[in-house]
Amino acid sequence: MIFSITNQKGGVGKTTSVMNLGSYMSTLNKKILIVDLDPQSNLTSGLLTNELKEKYNSIYNVLISDLDTKKAIYPTRIDNLFLLPSSIELAGAEVEMVSKVSRENILKKALNKIVNDYDFVIIDCPPSLGLLTVNGLVASEKVLIPVQCEYYALEGLGQLINTVTMVRENLNETLDIGGVILTMYDSRTNLSKDVAKEVRNFFEGKVFDSVIPRSIRLSEAPSRSLTIYEYAPYSSGALAYFNLANEVINRFEGKKSMLRPNIIKD
Ligand code: ATP
Ligand code: MG
Repeated sequence: MIFSITNQKGGVGKTTSVMNLGSYMSTLNKKILIVDLDPQSNLTSGLLTNELKEKYNSIYNVLISDLDTKKAIYPTRIDNLFLLPSSIELAGAEVEMVSKVSRENILKKALNKIVNDYDFVIIDCPPSLGLLTVNGLVASEKVLIPVQCEYYALEGLGQLINTVTMVRENLNETLDIGGVILTMYDSRTNLSKDVAKEVRNFFEGKVFDSVIPRSIRLSEAPSRSLTIYEYAPYSSGALAYFNLANEVINRFEGKKSMLRPNIIKD
C-alpha cells in the first residue's frame, strides 16, 4: 500500500514523520520503501549510505529519464527499510514534467512496478501543491497530513483538502485522507491543547491518538543523520512515533500489533 505524507506548509514535520514512522514500521516487521519526493533531499541525506552519496540513481532519473524504478532503490542501514532517494536536480523536474504525456501519473506508473515488493511505500512530499505533490497524491491510496500544534495550524488546510478532492475527482478516485498527525505538541501550553482540539473537531475521526510531542531529541537526530530509533530510543518522541507506527499499521491493515514499549521520559 502506498501513502503520502503531505502538507504544503513548510516545517510541519513531514520529513521527520516519514523517517521515524517508516523506520518504526520496519522494526514492526513491515517491509518499507521510503520515496523522497522533495528536492531538499533531507531524507536522502539521513538514509542513503555514505558510499553511495557521490553517485546514485534518484527519483529524478525515474521521473524524467524513465529509469527502471528498481535501479533507484537502495537498502538502508536499517533492516526492512529501503530508500528511493531524491537529488537536487528534482528542483527542475516540475518544469520538465509539464511537457510529458499524462504528467500527473508518472510516479504512479513508476511505483506500480514495485509496489507489490513492499508492505508499505511512504512518500515524503515537498512543501507545495505543485506537480510533484500531485504525482505523490495520484500514486497514493491514502494521504496522511501532519499538522503542527501552533497558531495558524489550520491555515492552508482548506487548500490542501481542495487539492485532495481535485485529485480524487479527476485522477485517482480511491484517494482518501488516511489520517492526521498532530506534531510538535507542547503539553505545557494551552495553545497546543486548543489547536489539537480544533484539529480533532475539523478532521472528525481522522486524527491519530498518538500525538508527537515537541522534542529536542527529535530535532537533534537529523543532524547526526539518525532516526529517533537509533538516536534516542527511550525519548518521548521515540515512544510517540513507535505508537504511531502501530496505529498506522492497525488502521491500514485492520489488525492489532502485539508490541508495546516501556514508558519512557526524555
Ligand atoms: P519541509 O516543508 O521543509 O519539507 P517538513 O514539513 O518536512 O519541512 P521537518 O523537516 O520534518 O518538516 O521538520 C521541520 C523542523 O522541525 C526540523 O528542523 C525538524 O528537526 C524539527 N522537528 C520536526 N518535528 C519535531 C518535533 N516533534 N519536535 C521538535 N522539532 C521537530
Ligand atoms: Mg520535508
